Formats: sequence, structure tokens, C-alpha cells
Amino acid sequence: MLICAATGNAGKLKELRRILEAQGHTVKSQRELGVTLEPDETGETFAQNALIKARAICEAAGVATIADDSGLCVEALSGAPGVYSARYCGHHGDDEANNDKLLRELRAVPEGRRAAAFESAVCLYLPGGEYILCSGRCPGRILFARKGHNGFGYDPLFAPDHVGAATGLLPNAAGRSYAELSDAEKDAISHRGAALRALQKKLPAFLQKVQPGAGVGFERDEKFDGDKLRRGARESAGEG
Ligand code: IMP
Repeated sequence: MLICAATGNAGKLKELRRILEAQGHTVKSQRELGVTLEPDETGETFAQNALIKARAICEAAGVATIADDSGLCVEALSGAPGVYSARYCGHHGDDEANNDKLLRELRAVPEGRRAAAFESAVCLYLPGGEYILCSGRCPGRILFARKGHNGFGYDPLFAPDHVGAATGLLPNAAGRSYAELSDAEKDAISHRGAALRALQKKLPAFLQKVQPGAGVGFERDEKFDGDKLRRGARESAGEG
């Protein structure tokens, strides 16, 4: 199906396009469809933010839209930067400054206490108002210095616990970072790859079930409060 990718992040767009096209979809970025809107990410969870972005861009683009909200959750930092991953350093989308801050914050944290996980929530939103949410997670640890040049964001500082693809997963004994993996290797284990595979699995049943115009969400994150979000949207539109 034709899917609009709701993101202005070039690294994320590349991965969404790569994975979804391998699944047989046609992907257009929101920019290619003439949508420059950047919705405020006011949610408290990845799922809430994915829904906010997918809904807003779908309403503007008029075609099925996918949004990914993702980030890095570091145990020694009580889950930070989490939903604030893109703006951890204080401003939006500065990967180098974000990585510098992460290294600084973890300077005194020893090897055994650097566990972290990348998390992703993806939302596919249809013009009739129906949507599906899926999530993915990749556990690993934070390195002491950048390694590798592939990917984007925190990739050079994150070593997944396992690597490998068709041959099965093996412990990441060499401590390779996300940025040292090939595209195929990253997609096979990444949080985004996992979320998009979950979506692919659920998509046929979801599409069969939805009635255009029903305005109902069928798949929800446990912590997700859709009613609160809808109330918030009405209030900010002055109807609340
Ligand atoms: P958002 O989902 O657009 O709010 O931003 C997600 C942020 O999390 C990105 O700007 C990156 O800093 C980080 N991030 C998400 N996924 C990845 C990934 O696969 N590799 C590296 N960083 C990521």
C-alpha cells in the first residue's frame, strides 16, 4: 500500500523506507507529499507521540501515514533520555551534542551498569481515523566512546546485546555498535525493525477489520490514554 512517512529525520526516513519497501509497500515522505507540518510531541510515551504525529500528518496528506517515535532508555539514567532523545542536549536533532551529553552523563558509570534499550512505537493511521500501534525494543549497552560511521543518532554509542540475522542471533561478543552494522544487520535486530515486523504481521487482519470512517483505534499501548489525548486536542482547538 502507499504509505506516507511522517518524519523530517533523514536517518529515520531511510530506515522506514528500506524496511517498508522490503515488505512490498510504496513509501513517500511527508515532504514528497507537500506536508511540512511538524506536530508538537506532547505525549509522555513513545506510543502517544507516534499517534500524535501519524494522525496530524495523515490529516494533512490524506493518505495512510506511518509515524515512528523512538528513543534510547538508559538504566543508569532512570530511563532517560527516552521520549526526549532527539532533544537531549537542549535543542532538537543535534546528534553530536546528544552523544556528547550521553558520554558526559555516564562518565563515572562502570561497564556492568551501562545497560540500555532502544525503543520504538510505530503508528499506522488511515484517513478514516482508524489506526494501529506496534512496538519494538532492542536491549544493549552504552559504549565509552563512539564506534562506527553508519546509521544516525546514538548509533555509534549503542552496542546491542545480540547481532546476526538469517543465521540466527549471536551474543555481540565484539561489542559492535549499531553504527558498525550493515543495513541488513541493523534492521534484523533493531527496535524499528522489530516494530515494523510486528506491524506487518498484524496489518492484514487490521485492514480487513477497519471500516472506513469508523474513527476508532483498534490497537493500543497499555499505558495509552486515547480519550485524554482526544480531550487535549479538543481543548487546544478551543472546544474543550
Ligand atoms: P523522534 O522519534 O523523532 O522524537 O526522535 C527519536 C530520536 O531518538 C532520534 O533523533 C535519535 O536521536 C534517537 N533514535 C531513534 N532511533 C534511533 C536509531 O535507530 N539509532 C540512533 N538513534 C535513534
